[in-house]
Amino acid sequence: MLVVMKAQATPQQIQAVCEYIEKLGFRPHPLPGAQRTAIGITGNQGAVERGNLEELPGVAEVIRVSKPYKLASRDVKEEDTIVRFPATDTAPDAAIGGPNLAIIAGPCSIESRDQAFAIAEHVAASGAQFFRGGAFKPRTSPYAFQGMGIEALRIMAEIRHRFGLRIVTEALDTETLALVAEFADVIQIGARNMQNFSLLKQAGRLRKPVLIKRGLSATLEEFLMAAEYVMSEGNYQVILCERGIRTFSDHARNTLDLSIVPALQRLSHLPILADPSHGTGRRDSVLPMARAAIACGADGLIVEVHHQPELALSDGPQSIYPDQFAQMMNEIEQIAPIVARSLPRAVRVPAPTA
Ligand code: PEP
Ligand code: MN
Repeated sequence: MLVVMKAQATPQQIQAVCEYIEKLGFRPHPLPGAQRTAIGITGNQGAVERGNLEELPGVAEVIRVSKPYKLASRDVKEEDTIVRFPATDTAPDAAIGGPNLAIIAGPCSIESRDQAFAIAEHVAASGAQFFRGGAFKPRTSPYAFQGMGIEALRIMAEIRHRFGLRIVTEALDTETLALVAEFADVIQIGARNMQNFSLLKQAGRLRKPVLIKRGLSATLEEFLMAAEYVMSEGNYQVILCERGIRTFSDHARNTLDLSIVPALQRLSHLPILADPSHGTGRRDSVLPMARAAIACGADGLIVEVHHQPELALSDGPQSIYPDQFAQMMNEIEQIAPIVARSLPRAVRVPAPTA
């Protein structure tokens, strides 16, 4: 159910409708739009009795949302969601969604301070706004490198300060989510955790952007329902990421399903990124698929970059070299205007080391 407020509705009227919904035993989700505020209602099993709601001051209409995902749906919010990162002492403002492309780059895993700093310096110089790096790694084998944990988080906090890069890192479980949230600017929920409902709900109780990667065999609806889990808890800063699905194709690690980008944009207001690194698993395919992702309308990219990929402790074969990353940035900068986007490249002066 969705309550559409009149364009001229006052904040007090919006508040009164929210309180009324709470009194009915449901949860209101006020979602301000450019023209008017819509208030999503969740917590109801069936239809909410709409009669009284329609009579409250400031209410334009009450609509039934037929899709299983409500808050993630364009029915509830017509305008694209832009997840904003206001300027800080060390970083210029940034956004995921909207006219500017968002580029997240860095190694699969943080392996040492020197490795992380070397890569961060390169990706910052090429104009990335976000630095990715795994601290807690979801590995197929329990014997494979599992990540440096809190030490990696501390290294990334230093990188944020020195290079003005926002930090994107994965929360693997509910036990470490709060710790990751302390350090991260964006909390990544990995493909294998896309349906870890307790993790999604707990991330929904935070007020930090959450990047959800599509599960290896998730349908579009399942993907949006994962976003809905986070949003239903009141966290509306959700970013989707297509990272390749498992198909019969054996020329690549995964099949980067770019056709989901326009399909998601039709149905949802949430930003959608593409990950051509996990999406292909092959260094030589990353640049072509990065170009394709921008051409088809993705809001940005998350890419694995390593200065010595042959020595990487995880995902070396799909990590591109820093000069390839620089080339990728130049190429997508040229594609961007064709799809009415631009690539902001802040010139950053590294902060002095403490
Ligand atoms: C990663 O980003 O390094 C990662 C493990 O991603 P995914 O969950 O998409 O496999
Ligand atoms: Mn990886």
